[in-house]
Amino acid sequence: MVDRIPKNIKLKFLGGTREVGRSAIAIKSGGTQILLDYGVMLAREPGFPMHILPREVDAIVLSHAHLDHSGAIPVFHIRSHTPVYGTPPTFEITKLLISDFIKLSSYYLPFEFIDLQNMLNCSEPQKYRELFRIGSFSIELLNAGHIPGSAQIFIETLKKKMFYTGDFNVIDSRLLKGADLDYQDVDILITEGTYANEDHMERKEVEKAFIEKITDVVERGGTVLVPAFAVGRSQEILCILAANNFEYPVFIDGMAKDVNEILLRHPSFLRDPNLFMESLHLAKSIRGWRDRRKAIGQPGVIVSPAGMLKGGNAIFYMNKIAKRSDNAICMVSFQIPGTPGHELLTSKRFIIRGKMGTVKAEVEHFDFTSHGGQTQLLETVKRTSSDAKIFVMHGEEEGCVKFSEIIHEDLGLEAIVPKAGEVFKV
Ligand SMILES: [Zn+2]
Ligand SMILES: [Zn+2]
Repeated sequence: MVDRIPKNIKLKFLGGTREVGRSAIAIKSGGTQILLDYGVMLAREPGFPMHILPREVDAIVLSHAHLDHSGAIPVFHIRSHTPVYGTPPTFEITKLLISDFIKLSSYYLPFEFIDLQNMLNCSEPQKYRELFRIGSFSIELLNAGHIPGSAQIFIETLKKKMFYTGDFNVIDSRLLKGADLDYQDVDILITEGTYANEDHMERKEVEKAFIEKITDVVERGGTVLVPAFAVGRSQEILCILAANNFEYPVFIDGMAKDVNEILLRHPSFLRDPNLFMESLHLAKSIRGWRDRRKAIGQPGVIVSPAGMLKGGNAIFYMNKIAKRSDNAICMVSFQIPGTPGHELLTSKRFIIRGKMGTVKAEVEHFDFTSHGGQTQLLETVKRTSSDAKIFVMHGEEEGCVKFSEIIHEDLGLEAIVPKAGEVFKV
């Protein structure tokens, strides 16, 4: 019999190339084809990765729950039953995020709740560091330190070792252990490049400045609003408060409460489950409008989505908190240009009750990132074999290209910044 199965690996980048959003990569080897992530681009009208026929995909491996990695997967469950691999918390958080996404954007989406449910019925939960097989691929998920349940994906096929970082963070945060770096001799590395050209401030320093600021504000009788993402960042802020024995009232609002419930079921994915429990005792959950009005009427800290002030209950809090100069708004994540959060940070202006106006409260920014900076990304690249091929994605075009040049010049490795639709045989 003639062997028709090709002896090389085919990589096709379907999205997340020279941009942040809609990450998706197809890998074909020995007659099997898998997808790593299949996310969406979050814009007024959501953007999708390039199309691929569901019947040509044997399985999907999901790195983590964020919609730019998970949001388009239900496309494979409208008529097909493609298995999806990921960690247990990833599936629970993905359910929460895609449900919310369907509620907000159903008009633009080709799938509905029933398809999301089908997707979850096709889930194949995996622990970190447990080998599983899909056709000719051997695969392991390694902690990525990015959000709870996040994974880097190690793949072996045709005697080649591939590593997809997904979104990752090597430093320990209060909530999560830093990314698992115990792997070597990778032939093909696909790395994220969100912060490929900058380094972050030392975490300890950021934390100290944050605690000092909020203590100051509360002690002068002010209220602090911390607009934060529901997944990971809100819990990180609560853990920071608990670790520093913050003794003033703390409130938590929005979807973060549902995420807390999920994490309570998966303590082994947290760095210090006891600290997390303590942080939940410290923070009072907001259960309705009465609680909300009570929270803004007293000195304390309110943690509430949305992280970039694009909606959510943070808008309600802004209406009150913005008006007084003894209050403060502490932004704790990167603000994408064009979002209300970015406008607030750069010009101190915000739409209050339908009118753009100057905010009287203090506005501060603290960089509690969940992505590695350039130094950490380079360290990761150095772990590859001496003739490895590096692909840089999930970052702005200019940054990814510059970073690829640094890899080439400093480490002598071939570094590629793929475009959507590009195919590589390795
Ligand atoms: Zn992410
Ligand atoms: Zn991402």
